[in-house]
This record gives sequence, structure tokens and C-alpha cells, in this order.
Amino acid sequence: MSISQNLKNILATIPSGVKLIAVSKTKPNEAIVEAYQSGQRIFGENKAQELAAKQKDLPSDIEWHMIGHMQSNKVKYIAPFVALIHSVDSLSLLQEINKQALKNNRIIGVLLQFYIAEEESKFGFSMEEAEALLNSEEYKAFKNIEVCGVMGMATFTENQEQIKKEFKQLKTYFTQLKSAHFSEKERFNEISMGMSGDYLLAIQEGSTMVRVGSSIFGGR
Ligand SMILES: *Cc1c(COP(=O)(O)O)cnc(C)c1O
Repeated sequence: MSISQNLKNILATIPSGVKLIAVSKTKPNEAIVEAYQSGQRIFGENKAQELAAKQKDLPSDIEWHMIGHMQSNKVKYIAPFVALIHSVDSLSLLQEINKQALKNNRIIGVLLQFYIAEEESKFGFSMEEAEALLNSEEYKAFKNIEVCGVMGMATFTENQEQIKKEFKQLKTYFTQLKSAHFSEKERFNEISMGMSGDYLLAIQEGSTMVRVGSSIFGGR
């Protein structure tokens, strides 16, 4: 099936309040253009240099999201334009994002990535670590970042109950942080969870942003 048909099929299953991030990592610009021409405007990549190279060559009204683990020394490549960084998992990374955002005279939106999976390899904060970050003096001094919500990746498994439990956990973290650390006028509203295999379940559990790659662009 074509990229535009895949997009159409997926959009038909997503409620209007949920944003679709089309994950275009490893895919050529032509594939992104095809999705763009069928109306998609938000794209996600997991490598800073690949993201910067694509941004340079593609339409300027694309909203680019960084969804992959980041090293601090790569923030500079995307700071001039990135709309949202989903994968913030340390204070030092947040510090560098704040610094590069200031340099570019911008405020960069970020999500705090949580560790919700059973797998050892996944990145992210525990609730205790996130609380410590939000309570720190360093964090309170950052003027050029805006924490807009949370992100998580469920365990790679067929077990729907397991995945559901992990999404519920992320939603609980979100709700607790929102009530303890963010006022009504702050835009702490996003729960980024759900990929090709589990986005419908993620939406059931309260996702506001799904990150879908292979179901749109084919396998990698
Ligand atoms: C690759 C990736 C996705 C998309 O995965 P698909 O299974 O291809 O939909 C979503 N989130 C992150 C963080 C990714 O790296």
C-alpha cells in the first residue's frame, strides 16, 4: 500500500485530539514529501544529524520532533528549529537544550521520558528522578525550555496486558506531576505514547501523541 493510503487508514482510527507524529527515521526525503503532500505536517526522527539534514531540504512548515535518545553535544544541530524533544532523560541534557535555545533566542518544548518497560535497555527517568529534577534549583532557573508533558515506550511484547499496564503507569506519572508541579496556565498537557504496534491501546489509555513509523512508511 502507498504512504498516503497508509496515512489515511491510520488517521481514520485516531481521535481528533490526538496528534500523529509520522516517524520518518531512515526513510528518504521522497517518502516524507509523499506524506507531506497528503497533508501530514508533524514528523519525528531519532538522530540529530539526520533530522537537521532533512529539515534543510524539506518544506519549512514541517513541525520536526526529536524522539530518540540524545547526546548533549548533538543538541546544537536541531536547536534552531526543533518543535518538541520527546526524549529528555537527564538534567544535563535539559541544561544543554536550555543553553542552545537561549543561543537561538527560542523556547524549546520538551517531554520528560519515563522508564516504563521491563527491558533493561530503555532510557528514561523514574518518578523519583523526575521529581528531583523538577524540584531542583537548576531546573527552576531554565528560562528557555518548556516542559510540555511525558513520553514513554512500552516493552516490546505481544502481551497486551503488560503494555496496557505500562501505559497506565505513564498516565499516572503524568497526572501526579501535573498536579504537583504545573499550574493550569502551563502547557503540561502531552502524553507521548504508542507506536505502530500499540498506538490504539495507547490512545485508549490516554495518549495525546502517537509516534508511528513502520505502519506509514513500511519496515526499516
Ligand atoms: C522508531 C520509533 C518509533 C516508531 O516505531 P514504529 O514501530 O516503526 O512505529 C516510535 N518511537 C520511537 C522513540 C522510535 O524510536
